[in-house]
Amino acid sequence: MTLNLTKPWDDVLTQIKTWARINSPWLVHYNSGSCNGCDIEILATLTPRYDLERFGVKLQGSPRHADVLITTGAVTRQSRDGLLRTYEQMPDPKFVVAVGSCAISGGVFQGCYNVIGEIGDVIPVNVYVPGCPPRPEAIIYGVVQLLNSLKK
Ligand code: SF4
Repeated sequence: MTLNLTKPWDDVLTQIKTWARINSPWLVHYNSGSCNGCDIEILATLTPRYDLERFGVKLQGSPRHADVLITTGAVTRQSRDGLLRTYEQMPDPKFVVAVGSCAISGGVFQGCYNVIGEIGDVIPVNVYVPGCPPRPEAIIYGVVQLLNSLKK
């Protein structure tokens, strides 16, 4: 990405913020009812073997400092408010990556008495990564797709 310094100051500032966001997206992870299979794949993705950090990605403990919410699992009655609160605490602009079949459609937990639906029923989702669980390569592909869409 090249900066165009001939534009008005506000535009240049926006360009710098976008450049920083694309090169250093901080993630916060929320499990809204997964079986932990997807969560383990996300952790594997962050290990040196798959090295998600080469894209500047950093796992962040607090939603207040995160750009990207990475979610797993169907949404249960108990986790709905936590998911919403986590999303609302993130500063704008914020992005959501839903990982796994359960996050996309409820998966194997669809129709359970304690499941109210998928992630998209509660918060807007930018990227869906299918699989049960998706492999680290698929998760990396999803994150890269998100970063590419930010460049546009
Ligand atoms: S998609 Fe598969 S691995 Fe992921 S939470 Fe659902 S059942 Fe578990």
